Amino acid sequence: MNTPILVSKDQSKAVQEIKVGDYVYVAGLDLVWKQKKVGYSGGSQSSKNTRQPGIIFISYGQEQYLVVTPDSLFLMPDQTLKRADKLTIQDHLLNEKGQKVAIHGVDSGVYRGGFHHIATDTQEPNENLDGHLVIANGIVCADYTLQIKYHGDEHKKEFAEMPTVGSKAYNDKYGVVKDQAIRNKNIDIDFTPSSEIAIPKRPADALAFISEEDAQAHLEYGQFRDHLDPVSRSWIDYLFTQFKLHYPDINFSVDWNNDEVNAYAWISNGERHVQILGGLVRSTTLELEGLALVVAHEIGHHYGGEPTYPGSTLSCEGQADFYGARNVMRKVWFGEFYISVTEKAISQLADFFGVASTDMDKQAAFMGKNTNGCEHPPGDCRIETYNAAVDLKPKPACAG
Ligand SMILES: [Zn+2]
Repeated sequence: MNTPILVSKDQSKAVQEIKVGDYVYVAGLDLVWKQKKVGYSGGSQSSKNTRQPGIIFISYGQEQYLVVTPDSLFLMPDQTLKRADKLTIQDHLLNEKGQKVAIHGVDSGVYRGGFHHIATDTQEPNENLDGHLVIANGIVCADYTLQIKYHGDEHKKEFAEMPTVGSKAYNDKYGVVKDQAIRNKNIDIDFTPSSEIAIPKRPADALAFISEEDAQAHLEYGQFRDHLDPVSRSWIDYLFTQFKLHYPDINFSVDWNNDEVNAYAWISNGERHVQILGGLVRSTTLELEGLALVVAHEIGHHYGGEPTYPGSTLSCEGQADFYGARNVMRKVWFGEFYISVTEKAISQLADFFGVASTDMDKQAAFMGKNTNGCEHPPGDCRIETYNAAVDLKPKPACAG
Protein backbone atom coordinates (compact mmCIF):
# COMPACT_ATOMS: atom_id res chain seq x y z
CA MET A 1 0.00 0.00 0.00
CA ASN A 2 1.07 3.53 -0.84
CA THR A 3 3.94 2.16 -2.92
CA PRO A 4 4.64 4.83 -5.56
CA ILE A 5 4.40 3.48 -9.11
CA LEU A 6 5.80 5.48 -12.03
CA VAL A 7 2.89 6.39 -14.31
CA SER A 8 4.82 8.64 -16.73
CA LYS A 9 8.40 9.80 -17.19
CA ASP A 10 8.32 12.05 -14.15
CA GLN A 11 5.12 11.29 -12.28
CA SER A 12 4.18 8.57 -9.84
CA LYS A 13 1.00 7.51 -8.06
CA ALA A 14 0.27 5.34 -5.00
CA VAL A 15 -0.45 1.84 -6.33
CA GLN A 16 -3.94 1.59 -4.82
CA GLU A 17 -4.98 4.81 -6.58
CA ILE A 18 -4.23 3.45 -10.03
CA LYS A 19 -7.47 2.39 -11.70
CA VAL A 20 -8.31 0.36 -14.78
CA GLY A 21 -7.95 2.68 -17.80
CA ASP A 22 -5.30 4.87 -16.12
CA TYR A 23 -1.87 5.02 -17.70
CA VAL A 24 1.22 3.52 -16.15
CA TYR A 25 4.88 3.52 -17.23
CA VAL A 26 5.88 0.06 -18.44
CA ALA A 27 8.67 -1.71 -20.32
CA GLY A 28 9.98 -5.15 -21.26
CA LEU A 29 13.42 -6.61 -20.55
CA ASP A 30 14.95 -3.97 -22.85
CA LEU A 31 13.78 -1.31 -20.36
CA VAL A 32 12.36 0.95 -23.08
CA TRP A 33 9.68 2.75 -21.06
CA LYS A 34 6.38 3.96 -22.42
CA GLN A 35 2.88 4.62 -21.12
CA LYS A 36 0.28 1.88 -21.37
CA LYS A 37 -3.29 1.52 -20.10
CA VAL A 38 -3.91 -0.49 -16.93
CA GLY A 39 -6.21 -3.49 -17.54
CA TYR A 40 -6.28 -4.91 -14.02
CA SER A 41 -6.26 -3.26 -10.61
CA GLY A 42 -7.20 -5.00 -7.39
CA GLY A 43 -6.14 -5.88 -3.90
CA SER A 44 -6.98 -6.38 -0.27
CA GLN A 45 -8.61 -3.64 1.77
CA SER A 46 -6.12 -1.43 3.51
CA SER A 47 -6.73 -1.64 7.20
CA LYS A 48 -4.39 -1.30 10.12
CA ASN A 49 -6.12 -4.36 11.56
CA THR A 50 -5.28 -6.63 8.67
CA ARG A 51 -2.43 -8.66 10.07
CA GLN A 52 -0.41 -10.21 7.27
CA PRO A 53 2.37 -12.62 8.24
CA GLY A 54 5.07 -13.87 5.88
CA ILE A 55 5.59 -10.47 4.28
CA ILE A 56 8.97 -9.37 2.91
CA PHE A 57 10.71 -6.11 3.79
CA ILE A 58 13.52 -4.98 1.49
CA SER A 59 15.75 -1.98 2.16
CA TYR A 60 17.95 -0.68 -0.62
CA GLY A 61 19.63 2.33 -2.22
CA GLN A 62 19.45 5.60 -0.28
CA GLU A 63 17.32 4.59 2.71
CA GLN A 64 14.55 3.30 0.49
CA TYR A 65 12.37 0.33 1.24
CA LEU A 66 9.59 -1.83 -0.13
CA VAL A 67 7.14 -4.07 1.71
CA VAL A 68 5.87 -6.79 -0.61
CA THR A 69 4.24 -10.20 -0.73
CA PRO A 70 6.79 -13.07 -0.94
CA ASP A 71 5.81 -13.88 -4.53
CA SER A 72 6.60 -10.37 -5.83
CA LEU A 73 9.20 -10.45 -8.61
CA PHE A 74 12.20 -8.19 -9.16
CA LEU A 75 14.33 -7.82 -12.29
CA MET A 76 17.93 -8.94 -11.72
CA PRO A 77 21.01 -7.69 -13.64
CA ASP A 78 21.12 -11.03 -15.55
CA GLN A 79 17.59 -10.32 -16.88
CA THR A 80 15.96 -13.03 -14.76
CA LEU A 81 13.15 -12.34 -12.31
CA LYS A 82 13.70 -13.23 -8.68
CA ARG A 83 11.06 -13.70 -5.98
CA ALA A 84 11.14 -11.30 -3.03
CA ASP A 85 11.44 -14.13 -0.49
CA LYS A 86 14.61 -15.36 -2.22
CA LEU A 87 16.46 -12.02 -2.39
CA THR A 88 19.74 -11.66 -0.50
CA ILE A 89 22.13 -8.81 0.24
CA GLN A 90 24.36 -10.27 -2.49
CA ASP A 91 21.71 -9.49 -5.12
CA HIS A 92 21.21 -6.17 -6.88
CA LEU A 93 17.93 -4.60 -7.85
CA LEU A 94 17.71 -2.41 -10.95
CA ASN A 95 16.45 1.12 -11.41
CA GLU A 96 14.57 2.23 -14.54
CA LYS A 97 17.85 2.97 -16.35
CA GLY A 98 19.04 -0.58 -15.68
CA GLN A 99 21.61 0.56 -13.10
CA LYS A 100 22.34 -1.72 -10.16
CA VAL A 101 20.93 -0.79 -6.76
CA ALA A 102 22.45 -2.40 -3.64
CA ILE A 103 20.23 -4.31 -1.21
CA HIS A 104 20.99 -3.54 2.45
CA GLY A 105 18.58 -5.87 4.18
CA VAL A 106 15.85 -8.45 3.53
CA ASP A 107 13.59 -9.64 6.30
CA SER A 108 10.30 -11.49 6.72
CA GLY A 109 7.67 -10.52 9.23
CA VAL A 110 4.18 -9.29 9.98
CA TYR A 111 2.74 -6.30 8.18
CA ARG A 112 -0.46 -4.53 9.15
CA GLY A 113 -2.12 -3.18 6.06
CA GLY A 114 -3.29 -4.24 2.63
CA PHE A 115 -1.71 -4.98 -0.72
CA HIS A 116 -2.69 -3.78 -4.15
CA HIS A 117 -1.72 -5.18 -7.56
CA ILE A 118 -1.86 -3.82 -11.10
CA ALA A 119 -1.30 -5.21 -14.60
CA THR A 120 -1.59 -3.78 -18.11
CA ASP A 121 -3.26 -6.90 -19.46
CA THR A 122 -3.70 -10.54 -18.53
CA GLN A 123 -2.43 -11.97 -21.83
CA GLU A 124 0.50 -14.39 -21.90
CA PRO A 125 3.60 -12.12 -21.86
CA ASN A 126 6.01 -12.33 -24.84
CA GLU A 127 9.68 -13.26 -24.49
CA ASN A 128 10.74 -9.65 -23.84
CA LEU A 129 7.95 -9.39 -21.21
CA ASP A 130 6.77 -6.25 -23.03
CA GLY A 131 4.44 -4.13 -20.95
CA HIS A 132 4.82 -6.23 -17.80
CA LEU A 133 7.67 -4.50 -15.98
CA VAL A 134 6.81 -1.51 -13.81
CA ILE A 135 8.77 0.79 -11.49
CA ALA A 136 7.82 0.59 -7.82
CA ASN A 137 9.58 3.09 -5.58
CA GLY A 138 12.41 3.41 -8.11
CA ILE A 139 12.88 -0.33 -8.67
CA VAL A 140 12.02 -2.48 -11.71
CA CYS A 141 9.59 -5.23 -10.79
CA ALA A 142 6.96 -7.45 -12.39
CA ASP A 143 3.28 -6.60 -12.78
CA TYR A 144 0.57 -8.90 -11.42
CA THR A 145 0.24 -10.91 -14.64
CA LEU A 146 3.90 -11.95 -14.49
CA GLN A 147 3.64 -12.60 -10.77
CA ILE A 148 0.77 -15.05 -11.35
CA LYS A 149 2.56 -16.67 -14.29
CA TYR A 150 5.53 -17.38 -12.02
CA HIS A 151 3.29 -19.38 -9.67
CA GLY A 152 3.47 -22.08 -12.36
CA ASP A 153 5.42 -25.32 -11.98
CA GLU A 154 8.24 -24.34 -14.33
CA HIS A 155 9.32 -21.48 -12.05
CA LYS A 156 8.25 -23.07 -8.78
CA LYS A 157 11.03 -25.63 -9.10
CA GLU A 158 13.81 -23.12 -9.72
CA PHE A 159 12.73 -21.04 -6.72
CA ALA A 160 12.34 -24.10 -4.48
CA GLU A 161 16.09 -24.65 -4.74
CA MET A 162 16.88 -21.21 -3.31
CA PRO A 163 16.69 -20.78 0.48
CA THR A 164 13.84 -18.58 1.73
CA VAL A 165 14.32 -15.43 3.80
CA GLY A 166 14.06 -16.30 7.50
CA SER A 167 14.78 -20.04 7.10
CA LYS A 168 17.74 -21.69 8.80
CA ALA A 169 19.31 -22.53 5.43
CA TYR A 170 19.09 -18.85 4.43
CA ASN A 171 20.47 -17.54 7.70
CA ASP A 172 23.32 -20.08 7.61
CA LYS A 173 24.26 -18.95 4.12
CA TYR A 174 23.74 -15.20 4.23
CA GLY A 175 23.55 -14.38 7.91
CA VAL A 176 20.74 -12.47 9.57
CA VAL A 177 20.81 -8.93 8.24
CA LYS A 178 18.81 -6.66 10.47
CA ASP A 179 17.91 -3.47 8.81
CA GLN A 180 18.65 -0.28 10.68
CA ALA A 181 15.44 1.36 9.49
CA ILE A 182 13.25 -1.33 11.06
CA ARG A 183 15.26 -1.37 14.25
CA ASN A 184 15.03 2.39 14.67
CA LYS A 185 11.32 2.38 13.80
CA ASN A 186 11.96 5.49 11.76
CA ILE A 187 9.79 4.28 8.91
CA ASP A 188 6.11 4.95 8.54
CA ILE A 189 4.93 1.38 7.97
CA ASP A 190 3.69 -1.14 10.50
CA PHE A 191 6.12 -4.02 9.94
CA THR A 192 7.49 -6.31 12.65
CA PRO A 193 10.36 -8.62 11.66
CA SER A 194 9.58 -12.23 12.55
CA SER A 195 12.79 -12.41 14.61
CA GLU A 196 11.28 -9.76 16.90
CA ILE A 197 7.91 -11.44 17.41
CA ALA A 198 7.89 -12.79 20.95
CA ILE A 199 7.25 -16.54 21.21
CA PRO A 200 6.82 -18.24 24.60
CA LYS A 201 10.08 -20.02 25.41
CA ARG A 202 9.53 -23.72 25.99
CA PRO A 203 11.35 -25.47 28.83
CA ALA A 204 13.63 -28.46 28.18
CA ASP A 205 11.07 -30.82 29.72
CA ALA A 206 8.16 -29.76 27.47
CA LEU A 207 6.29 -32.80 26.14
CA ALA A 208 6.66 -33.42 22.41
CA PHE A 209 4.36 -34.81 19.75
CA ILE A 210 7.04 -37.21 18.50
CA SER A 211 10.35 -38.41 19.97
CA GLU A 212 13.64 -36.62 19.28
CA GLU A 213 14.79 -39.56 17.08
CA ASP A 214 11.60 -39.44 15.03
CA ALA A 215 11.81 -35.66 14.69
CA GLN A 216 15.37 -36.07 13.39
CA ALA A 217 14.23 -38.72 10.88
CA HIS A 218 11.55 -36.32 9.64
CA LEU A 219 14.14 -33.58 9.10
CA GLU A 220 16.23 -36.02 7.06
CA TYR A 221 13.55 -37.78 5.03
CA GLY A 222 10.52 -35.52 5.17
CA GLN A 223 9.24 -33.18 2.47
CA PHE A 224 8.26 -29.64 3.30
CA ARG A 225 6.23 -26.81 1.91
CA ASP A 226 7.96 -23.50 1.28
CA HIS A 227 9.28 -21.70 4.36
CA LEU A 228 6.73 -18.88 4.09
CA ASP A 229 3.88 -21.02 2.71
CA PRO A 230 0.78 -18.88 3.33
CA VAL A 231 -1.77 -21.71 3.13
CA SER A 232 -0.43 -23.84 5.99
CA ARG A 233 0.07 -20.69 8.04
CA SER A 234 -3.58 -19.78 7.58
CA TRP A 235 -4.58 -23.32 8.68
CA ILE A 236 -2.71 -22.82 11.94
CA ASP A 237 -4.24 -19.37 12.49
CA TYR A 238 -7.68 -20.88 11.89
CA LEU A 239 -7.07 -23.90 14.15
CA PHE A 240 -5.72 -21.81 17.03
CA THR A 241 -8.80 -19.56 16.80
CA GLN A 242 -11.12 -22.61 16.93
CA PHE A 243 -9.29 -24.42 19.74
CA LYS A 244 -8.94 -21.23 21.79
CA LEU A 245 -12.74 -20.87 21.86
CA HIS A 246 -12.99 -24.22 23.65
CA TYR A 247 -9.71 -24.09 25.58
CA PRO A 248 -9.29 -20.41 26.56
CA ASP A 249 -6.76 -21.27 29.32
CA ILE A 250 -4.17 -22.45 26.82
CA ASN A 251 -1.61 -20.14 25.24
CA PHE A 252 -1.21 -21.26 21.65
CA SER A 253 1.90 -20.30 19.72
CA VAL A 254 3.75 -21.19 16.54
CA ASP A 255 7.53 -21.02 16.26
CA TRP A 256 7.39 -20.39 12.53
CA ASN A 257 11.13 -20.02 11.83
CA ASN A 258 11.97 -23.27 13.59
CA ASP A 259 12.37 -26.00 10.95
CA GLU A 260 12.16 -28.84 13.47
CA VAL A 261 9.24 -31.22 13.09
CA ASN A 262 7.41 -31.28 16.40
CA ALA A 263 4.80 -29.73 18.69
CA TYR A 264 4.92 -29.25 22.46
CA ALA A 265 2.83 -28.94 25.60
CA TRP A 266 4.04 -27.55 28.92
CA ILE A 267 3.06 -25.60 32.01
CA SER A 268 5.22 -22.74 33.24
CA ASN A 269 4.36 -20.28 36.01
CA GLY A 270 0.94 -21.90 36.17
CA GLU A 271 0.25 -21.07 32.51
CA ARG A 272 -0.66 -23.79 30.03
CA HIS A 273 1.12 -23.74 26.68
CA VAL A 274 0.81 -25.48 23.32
CA GLN A 275 3.41 -24.69 20.70
CA ILE A 276 3.75 -25.98 17.17
CA LEU A 277 7.02 -25.69 15.24
CA GLY A 278 7.34 -24.45 11.66
CA GLY A 279 8.79 -27.73 10.37
CA LEU A 280 5.71 -29.69 11.44
CA VAL A 281 3.32 -27.14 9.95
CA ARG A 282 5.24 -27.32 6.66
CA SER A 283 5.39 -31.14 6.46
CA THR A 284 3.64 -32.07 3.20
CA THR A 285 2.08 -35.13 4.89
CA LEU A 286 -0.14 -32.91 7.07
CA GLU A 287 -2.97 -30.59 6.14
CA LEU A 288 -5.53 -28.74 8.24
CA GLU A 289 -7.08 -31.96 9.64
CA GLY A 290 -3.79 -33.65 10.56
CA LEU A 291 -2.53 -30.46 12.19
CA ALA A 292 -5.80 -30.27 14.14
CA LEU A 293 -5.17 -33.74 15.60
CA VAL A 294 -1.60 -32.75 16.54
CA VAL A 295 -2.97 -29.71 18.42
CA ALA A 296 -5.63 -31.97 20.01
CA HIS A 297 -2.86 -34.33 21.22
CA GLU A 298 -1.06 -31.39 22.88
CA ILE A 299 -4.30 -30.29 24.56
CA GLY A 300 -4.70 -33.96 25.55
CA HIS A 301 -1.50 -33.64 27.60
CA HIS A 302 -3.13 -30.83 29.59
CA TYR A 303 -6.58 -32.29 30.19
CA GLY A 304 -6.30 -36.03 29.43
CA GLY A 305 -5.83 -37.08 33.05
CA GLU A 306 -4.34 -40.45 34.18
CA PRO A 307 -1.90 -41.92 33.44
CA THR A 308 0.30 -38.87 33.84
CA TYR A 309 4.07 -38.37 33.66
CA PRO A 310 5.70 -39.04 37.04
CA GLY A 311 5.63 -35.91 39.19
CA SER A 312 3.47 -34.04 36.65
CA THR A 313 -0.20 -33.40 35.91
CA LEU A 314 0.42 -33.79 32.18
CA SER A 315 -0.91 -36.98 30.57
CA CYS A 316 1.31 -39.69 29.12
CA GLU A 317 1.71 -39.86 25.32
CA GLY A 318 -0.75 -42.69 24.67
CA GLN A 319 -3.34 -41.02 26.88
CA ALA A 320 -2.81 -37.64 25.16
CA ASP A 321 -3.39 -39.36 21.80
CA PHE A 322 -6.53 -41.08 23.03
CA TYR A 323 -8.07 -38.11 24.84
CA GLY A 324 -7.07 -35.74 22.03
CA ALA A 325 -8.81 -37.81 19.36
CA ARG A 326 -11.80 -38.83 21.49
CA ASN A 327 -12.59 -35.72 23.55
CA VAL A 328 -10.76 -32.67 22.21
CA MET A 329 -11.52 -33.27 18.53
CA ARG A 330 -15.16 -34.09 19.35
CA LYS A 331 -15.52 -30.86 21.29
CA VAL A 332 -14.05 -28.65 18.60
CA TRP A 333 -15.52 -30.36 15.52
CA PHE A 334 -19.23 -30.79 16.01
CA GLY A 335 -21.27 -33.86 15.00
CA GLU A 336 -20.69 -35.09 11.46
CA PHE A 337 -17.69 -32.75 11.15
CA TYR A 338 -15.99 -34.69 13.92
CA ILE A 339 -16.03 -37.92 11.91
CA SER A 340 -14.97 -36.44 8.58
CA VAL A 341 -12.22 -34.22 10.02
CA THR A 342 -10.82 -36.90 12.32
CA GLU A 343 -10.80 -39.57 9.63
CA LYS A 344 -8.87 -37.28 7.30
CA ALA A 345 -6.56 -36.43 10.19
CA ILE A 346 -5.86 -40.11 10.90
CA SER A 347 -5.00 -40.82 7.29
CA GLN A 348 -2.63 -37.82 7.16
CA LEU A 349 -0.96 -38.88 10.40
CA ALA A 350 -0.52 -42.46 9.10
CA ASP A 351 1.39 -40.85 6.25
CA PHE A 352 3.31 -38.65 8.68
CA PHE A 353 4.36 -41.54 10.94
CA GLY A 354 5.36 -43.47 7.82
CA VAL A 355 7.94 -40.82 6.90
CA ALA A 356 9.95 -41.53 10.03
CA SER A 357 9.94 -45.22 9.16
CA THR A 358 11.93 -44.78 5.93
CA ASP A 359 15.13 -45.65 7.75
CA MET A 360 14.56 -49.31 8.56
CA ASP A 361 17.34 -49.56 11.14
CA LYS A 362 15.96 -46.59 13.01
CA GLN A 363 12.48 -48.03 12.85
CA ALA A 364 13.66 -51.40 14.14
CA ALA A 365 15.44 -49.74 17.04
CA PHE A 366 12.37 -47.66 17.76
CA MET A 367 9.90 -50.55 17.55
CA GLY A 368 12.05 -52.61 19.92
CA LYS A 369 11.75 -50.00 22.64
CA ASN A 370 9.57 -50.65 25.64
CA THR A 371 6.56 -48.46 25.00
CA ASN A 372 4.43 -49.60 27.88
CA GLY A 373 5.57 -46.61 29.91
CA CYS A 374 4.65 -43.01 29.35
CA GLU A 375 6.63 -42.34 26.17
CA HIS A 376 5.58 -42.27 22.51
CA PRO A 377 4.00 -45.51 21.25
CA PRO A 378 5.05 -46.62 17.73
CA GLY A 379 3.23 -44.99 14.82
CA ASP A 380 0.94 -47.93 14.05
CA CYS A 381 -0.16 -48.07 17.69
CA ARG A 382 -0.93 -44.36 17.63
CA ILE A 383 -3.10 -44.81 14.52
CA GLU A 384 -4.88 -47.70 16.27
CA THR A 385 -5.45 -45.42 19.27
CA TYR A 386 -7.01 -42.66 17.12
CA ASN A 387 -9.29 -45.17 15.39
CA ALA A 388 -10.39 -46.63 18.75
CA ALA A 389 -11.17 -43.08 19.95
CA VAL A 390 -13.38 -42.35 16.93
CA ASP A 391 -15.20 -45.70 17.34
CA LEU A 392 -15.65 -45.08 21.08
CA LYS A 393 -13.69 -48.24 21.87
CA PRO A 394 -11.30 -48.51 24.83
CA LYS A 395 -7.70 -47.32 24.51
CA PRO A 396 -5.57 -50.13 22.96
CA ALA A 397 -3.10 -51.89 25.29
CA CYS A 398 -0.12 -50.74 23.19
CA ALA A 399 -0.87 -47.11 24.13
CA GLY A 400 -0.06 -47.69 27.80
ZN1 LIG B 1 3.00 -35.62 23.28
